[in-house]
Amino acid sequence: MTCEMASGRILSRGLTRMVAAPWNYVAGKRCDPCDASHNMKVVEPASGQLLCEVPVSGQKEVAHAVAAAKEVFPCWSKLSCRERGRKLLEASRIIRENLEDISKLEVRDTGKPIWEARVDIESCADALEYYGGVAGAIVGQHVPLSGGSFAMVQRQPLGVIGGIGAWNFPLQTCVWKVAPALACGNTFVYKPSQFTPVTAVTLGEVFKEAGVPDGVYNVIQGEGETGAFLCSHPDVAKLSFTGSVPTGVKVMATGAQGIKAVTLELGGKSPLIIFEDADMKNAIKATLMANFLSQGQVCSNGTRVFVQKSIFKEFVKQLVDATNKLKIGNPFAEDTTVGATIHEDHAKKVLGYISTAKEEGATLLCGGERIMLEGELSGGYYLSPAVLVDCKDDMTVVKEEVFGSIASILEFDTEEEAIQRANKTDFGLAGAVFTKDIQRGHRVANSIEAGTVWINTYNLYPTELPFGGYKHSGVGRENGMAVIDFFTQTRTVYVEMGDVDCGPLYQE
Ligand code: NAD
Repeated sequence: MTCEMASGRILSRGLTRMVAAPWNYVAGKRCDPCDASHNMKVVEPASGQLLCEVPVSGQKEVAHAVAAAKEVFPCWSKLSCRERGRKLLEASRIIRENLEDISKLEVRDTGKPIWEARVDIESCADALEYYGGVAGAIVGQHVPLSGGSFAMVQRQPLGVIGGIGAWNFPLQTCVWKVAPALACGNTFVYKPSQFTPVTAVTLGEVFKEAGVPDGVYNVIQGEGETGAFLCSHPDVAKLSFTGSVPTGVKVMATGAQGIKAVTLELGGKSPLIIFEDADMKNAIKATLMANFLSQGQVCSNGTRVFVQKSIFKEFVKQLVDATNKLKIGNPFAEDTTVGATIHEDHAKKVLGYISTAKEEGATLLCGGERIMLEGELSGGYYLSPAVLVDCKDDMTVVKEEVFGSIASILEFDTEEEAIQRANKTDFGLAGAVFTKDIQRGHRVANSIEAGTVWINTYNLYPTELPFGGYKHSGVGRENGMAVIDFFTQTRTVYVEMGDVDCGPLYQE
């Protein structure tokens, strides 16, 4: 394979065709794995109908994709950072130009409302633009040493990266990994979630049109076993995983067998602390953002909402009013604010948490039911966002990550109490504090054990800022310049300008 700059007109060929054939994407083209053991039936969340059937890749297909990425690595990694950056900038431009079509694909895959999908896809363009822009600044160091000697600390790519993603932000998860990895000179094999296989393939065709050489970015489709094959492949230098804690443990264990670097972006159970002096309207808006975006299927969601006693009643009243105004419906409709849950099993799991919460003493103030839509959408799992009160810290719904639209509202008295209870979790992905007292805002933010803390807002992740978890929420960081350390290794080259000084070892 050569490092020839590819070109194509993917998007003019029609994006809707992609839904019909989200196969593997290897060495610059879609390929149907002929030896697939079986097909995955991918269901469209909005309708509960079959969206597409995708052949599941085995060891042979994984090896094919890794070989393609390995073959092109020498020429991709030898391009200057700026040359690579230019390709990423072009990919960003193509995504922006096709934002509406790609957003629609994401809606079909996920069931999330179209307005949210547009935000997600725009964030993909942002990430490609950011790493395209900073690529030229990915440099090493020159370190002067005694006697005129010096060292160069070279920043080198790692090789072939194996990426594995979750289903809640399919393209965003992929691009957050691929954009910085490619900017650093690595090549990539990505396995999307079996529930959302479509847009990762679209990205391959965007890269082709942007002139990224064939083989630099590849996609393999499959379930957990396919992911495990990718993790254990000896030519994969690093694993970058987004998903649940139990799967993260397996990925890390497999990585350990091959002494591979591992980045893990895992689950959360984040605290949102609202003090009595907070701007009430902003606190309500943030609570909606922290609980009900993407049907509550967001890793950083602030699902433990701690509200100070003196404003508790008024806050709950306003939150229930605002929640009841959310519009559940067809994800393609412009006025829909709540779309469909990813699939039936997950919807049943979310409803199960509501039943358990009630059994354990919580009171359901609104939502928590399946809403039946009519016609084509009658097979979709639409759940009304739920607000629970009378919650205790040791209830199942308060301790475990639900990954659905359930807000548990907890009452607190003092700042110390709020901080202590907020940190009483094995997770540490995010958190937030709402207050007008600037010192308290900083004090509390500095005390929350989490990778991201917002003061007076929630769930914003500009590409410039590192994102990742403390404790069981993960290892490593994505985004910002922090991620560069996780996609490169340094080589120190020491240059001696004088004679070798070996002490008394050498006698004339
Ligand atoms: P999951 O762990 O079930 O699956 C994630 C991916 O891992 C899928 O692609 C799956 O096929 C693959 N997989 C399964 N078994 C594997 C194995 N043994 N080896 C390798 N790969 C394997 O998670 P999910 O249900 O898809 O996603 C939801 C979870 O993801 C939630 O816990 C959520 O908090 C988390 N998440 C975290 C972030 C973050 O940035 N921290 C972002 C999105 C989602």
